[in-house]
Amino acid sequence: RFITLEGGEGAGKSTNARFIKAWLEQRGREVVMTREPGGSPLAEAIRSVVLASWSEGMPPLTEALLMFAARSAHLEATVLPALEAGKDVICDRFVDSSYAYQGAGNGFSLDKLKTLEEMVLGDFRPDLTIVFDLDPNAGLQRARSRGDQNRFEDETVAFMQRVREAFLQRAKAEPARYAILDAGNELETVQADLSKILESRV
Ligand code: C5P
Repeated sequence: RFITLEGGEGAGKSTNARFIKAWLEQRGREVVMTREPGGSPLAEAIRSVVLASWSEGMPPLTEALLMFAARSAHLEATVLPALEAGKDVICDRFVDSSYAYQGAGNGFSLDKLKTLEEMVLGDFRPDLTIVFDLDPNAGLQRARSRGDQNRFEDETVAFMQRVREAFLQRAKAEPARYAILDAGNELETVQADLSKILESRV
């Protein structure tokens, strides 16, 4: 199974990815944890370039192409081989992040994103996408307090609000493939909710 975790900054995706991994392993599954942008040597190299370039700004098309270039490399090198070997793959961010950040955030054309998605993914989609939903103020505060190297030193809460809405909208449009998690709760509650999602969906 291919499970992707989506959400804004500081929503707790990475911490809970480890929880999901342990949950699957307790049920005898072999699990590969990975992330985007990144997740393979080439894709991680692209990630470094992208993260290093944000301070000087990047044309939206360039950003979208780099994200999908990294995704393509990551799929070929990491995700598809693991799935073919019968493993489960948990991915911290995937294509929904492109719709949310490059699309809703940057205002890059959704039609062009669809074209890139078609080119890179064809019909391939996650089996389950869990959206970690969190108020942007709380998320940005969490991300900043742990010193994340991210693009949002100068970004406004309004950008993150558009990102949040995009994730929710995509999740609501396809409820069979998405689950929405309230990431604003205490970790214990979040993980109890996650367990319920996993029990009913995996
Ligand atoms: O999730 P993570 O913190 O690893 O992401 C690194 C940075 O890249 C974050 O600032 C995130 O918001 C940004 N990002 C993006 N577009 C994507 C994926 C991540 O702007 N498609």
